[in-house]
Amino acid sequence: MPPTGLPPYDESNIFARILRGEIPSRRVHEDEFAIAFHDINPQAPVHVLVIPRGAYVSLADFSTSASEAEIAGFWRAVGRVAKELGLEAQGYRALTNMGEHGGQEVPHFHVHLFGGRPLGRMVPASGA
Ligand code: 5GP
Repeated sequence: MPPTGLPPYDESNIFARILRGEIPSRRVHEDEFAIAFHDINPQAPVHVLVIPRGAYVSLADFSTSASEAEIAGFWRAVGRVAKELGLEAQGYRALTNMGEHGGQEVPHFHVHLFGGRPLGRMVPASGA
């Protein structure tokens, strides 16, 4: 159950359906704690999403509710996927959107991995 103030987990969200294998994804990694797959609408030459297997709405939920093993396993997977994608030498960005101001669209915690070109400023200057 997410902490007070956060929405309940929606079992029908698109990443829950990808986890259950109900809709296809181009997976690049899977282990006990996480799966990773290419974003359907890539914003960089490499744009991969890493998601925990557990049902967590956002980073706020995951950091509060997940076990130590899930947290460690998930973040190890993030680093491992970036390495396996060949992003370490030239660098990459790991990003998570949380809630309305973060622009989160899919309510299953995920980390975006972007790479393959210089990525510019962290946040658009316009705030758009
Ligand atoms: P958010 O804005 O929630 O941080 O990012 C959600 C991401 O999920 C977006 O980059 C979007 O392109 C991606 N996405 C949405 N639906 C699908 C889907 O069905 N398959 C895949 N692979 N990615 C998706």
